[in-house]
Amino acid sequence: MNFDVVVIGSGPGGYVCAIRCAQLGMKTAIIEKYPTLGGTCLNVGCIPSKALLDSSEHFHNASHNFDKHGIGTSKLSLDMKQMIARKNSVVSQTCDGVKYLMDKNNITVFEGVGSFVDKNKVKVSNGKDETILETKNTVIATGSKPNYFPGMEPDKDRIITSTEMLDLEEVCQNLIVIGGGVIGLELGSVQARLGANVQVVEFADRIIPTMDKDCSKELTKVLKKEGFKFSFKTKVQKVENTGKGVKVTALDKNDKEVVFEGDYCLVAVGRKPYTEGLGLENVGIKVSDRGQIEINDHLETSVPGVYAIGDVVKGAMLAHKAEEEGVYVAELMADQKPHLDYNLIPGVVYTWPEVAAVGKTEEELKEAGVSYKAGSFPVKALGRARASMDIMGMVKVIAHAETDEVLGVHMVSARAADMIMEAVTAMEYRASAEDMARICHPHPTYTEATKEAALAATGDRALHI
Ligand code: FAD
Ligand code: NAD
Repeated sequence: MNFDVVVIGSGPGGYVCAIRCAQLGMKTAIIEKYPTLGGTCLNVGCIPSKALLDSSEHFHNASHNFDKHGIGTSKLSLDMKQMIARKNSVVSQTCDGVKYLMDKNNITVFEGVGSFVDKNKVKVSNGKDETILETKNTVIATGSKPNYFPGMEPDKDRIITSTEMLDLEEVCQNLIVIGGGVIGLELGSVQARLGANVQVVEFADRIIPTMDKDCSKELTKVLKKEGFKFSFKTKVQKVENTGKGVKVTALDKNDKEVVFEGDYCLVAVGRKPYTEGLGLENVGIKVSDRGQIEINDHLETSVPGVYAIGDVVKGAMLAHKAEEEGVYVAELMADQKPHLDYNLIPGVVYTWPEVAAVGKTEEELKEAGVSYKAGSFPVKALGRARASMDIMGMVKVIAHAETDEVLGVHMVSARAADMIMEAVTAMEYRASAEDMARICHPHPTYTEATKEAALAATGDRALHI
């Protein structure tokens, strides 16, 4: 069978790339080793975690906030089996949607493991048959798997990764989370809202350590209210399954041994690129020390005509980054001149309130020696926030000291995941803080905090504080 392009992996990078290739007239095939399409994102990542975050948020509001609105719930109950079943149904509907899109765009789907025979031949093996696909171009979009360090190997029973946690049909009593990054805080939030004690053990001196420092501080306050406990500057050494629970041994900042005991341990210390079984050695494609497929500025590997995108290459491990790279590569193969600005890829943490950011942090600008001015505005000063009782959070706008160009926007706020798009759009068009401040924002909304922070960044001009 002959194709113009073969895409290996059907996550958001791979399936979006395949659609764009087909739209541009290429005869396209996609290979996926699992029976459902959609990759990590749809099956065991973005979609199932958000389904559980929404369910647990409803439970938390019903148990903690409804009474303040004057709504009584006589006896609240929790059916975890149903919560997981609803999540599974959301996942399966979303995966079916990808299958529909493949059919609609005449993309041939192969189930099996894709591996290189040579630069223009990819083999699909499904345990029974082997099919050889001849292709002009290949896109590797094989994604990532949970990472762990020696001593914390997941046993998938009590020592689990996000994949097992998304199927857990019980509320933990004491959940130990290794890693205060995105997965630890999102899945920890699900359990905390349902009543679990959550202990986060984090190696760095704060949670979400790559994001804005003030956002970390604010989110720490929020999560402590939800019942989280944090141990910072603490490095996990060993995790043991004791039968009915787990024992986590770590070294604190003074190199003193500390022990945490719980019923489950979630290992959330990052993800690693997945290249097993691809036969990269058959084509001479190089992998970096971190396991990432090496690419040039046009996402092409050392072998011409073979591209790599998404979690399997350098950069943020985010679904929308993978999607943009998929479109970029498709358009490049069609001799177009696509453009991708990595500085403008927003990041979101789906706690409640949410954390969202785009562009540079103050720490990054200081390190780069760029002079800037920053303006912040607290969410609690908004009428909208008081009406809904979501008063935690703040928005920060950072602008260049001389030109006033917006360089970064960082926020903790209800609905921040959606609010951040105003900042992304503004920065795409190289707006100044003054531009953002002069745009009329609807009242009452959370977006007024962005306007006020922009006013604060252009001088001491915030109106409502
Ligand atoms: P993947 O989605 O990992 O897909 C790769 C696919 O390739 C897989 O289906 C795999 O089976 C297949 N494959 C691998 N090798 C082969 C082979 N040899 N042959 C055939 N098929 C193969 N990102 C966000 O932006 N927002 C979020 O809210 C978010 N939440 C997340 C929550 C969790 C719990 C996790 C784990 C991740 C989350 N992410 C989120 C990250 C996001 O899921 C990834 O960044 C994204 O899925 C990467 O897309 P990808 O296409 O590169 O790879
Ligand atoms: P992460 O990189 O966000 O966080 C891992 C944390 O573990 C870091 O804070 C790190 O300091 C800490 N750590 C590492 N080793 C440790 C040790 N020995 N002891 C204690 N702490 C240790 O990784 P993650 O949370 O596993 O998420 C993986 C990827 O998935 C991320 O890159 C993220 O982009 C993606 N993801 C995104 C979303 C989202 O966009 N909302 C949600 C979930 C996952």
